[in-house]
Amino acid sequence: MGYRVTIIEDEKDIVDLVRYNFRKEGFDVASFLRGKEGLEHLRRNPPDLVLLDIMLPDVDGFEVCKKLRADERLKDVPIIFLTAKGEEIDRVLGLEIGADDYVVKPFSPRELVARAKAVLRRRERPAEKHEVVETSGFRLDSRTQEVMVRGRTVELSALEFKLLHYLASHPRQVFSRERLLDEVWGRDRFVTPRTVDVHVRRVREKIEESPEKPRYLRTVRGAGYRFSLDAEQNDA
Ligand code: CA
Repeated sequence: MGYRVTIIEDEKDIVDLVRYNFRKEGFDVASFLRGKEGLEHLRRNPPDLVLLDIMLPDVDGFEVCKKLRADERLKDVPIIFLTAKGEEIDRVLGLEIGADDYVVKPFSPRELVARAKAVLRRRERPAEKHEVVETSGFRLDSRTQEVMVRGRTVELSALEFKLLHYLASHPRQVFSRERLLDEVWGRDRFVTPRTVDVHVRRVREKIEESPEKPRYLRTVRGAGYRFSLDAEQNDA
């Protein structure tokens, strides 16, 4: 059965282009020109993937995204933002909104289809072997995808969990931003090393007692990041 994609975008040309290319690849496509009607549809028909424009005539894409993430049936549906240049990208990267990827307009439909498939693949990757990483005050369980820090459960997005899991399951090893992009985001992704910094910062805000002086997720100057098991002196 084909994946179901819902696109919310008010530029009809883009909708037509996306619909044509996704259908050609065997996807079922539903499209909406307004945020509100898109949301109503999504609530009744949770899809496998949402393509979401930011500047919409009524409810903007960020608002739609927030509403999806707050909805029990829709909170895990992957979202790819379709953004204009500049400020919108900064907001996508900087906000705690839980998008899975973004493409910048004008984009090639082939690239968008490839990204969509990558996002869906990531969601469906079979669980890796059960693994628990435990160190003082920190516990990560790869099967339940749970992270406990200082006795409380931490809510991480799928991508944040993957990043932390990767680092924590290779403790003390230093990884460059490029390597992390390959390992965590995957080679077929078009993201910048800054994306790694943004996500590291988010994870720190959630797991570190003082994110400015990280105890677990350390910066190794000029080299990248590593997960520390010991209460050693911070080298950030
Ligand atoms: Ca628009």
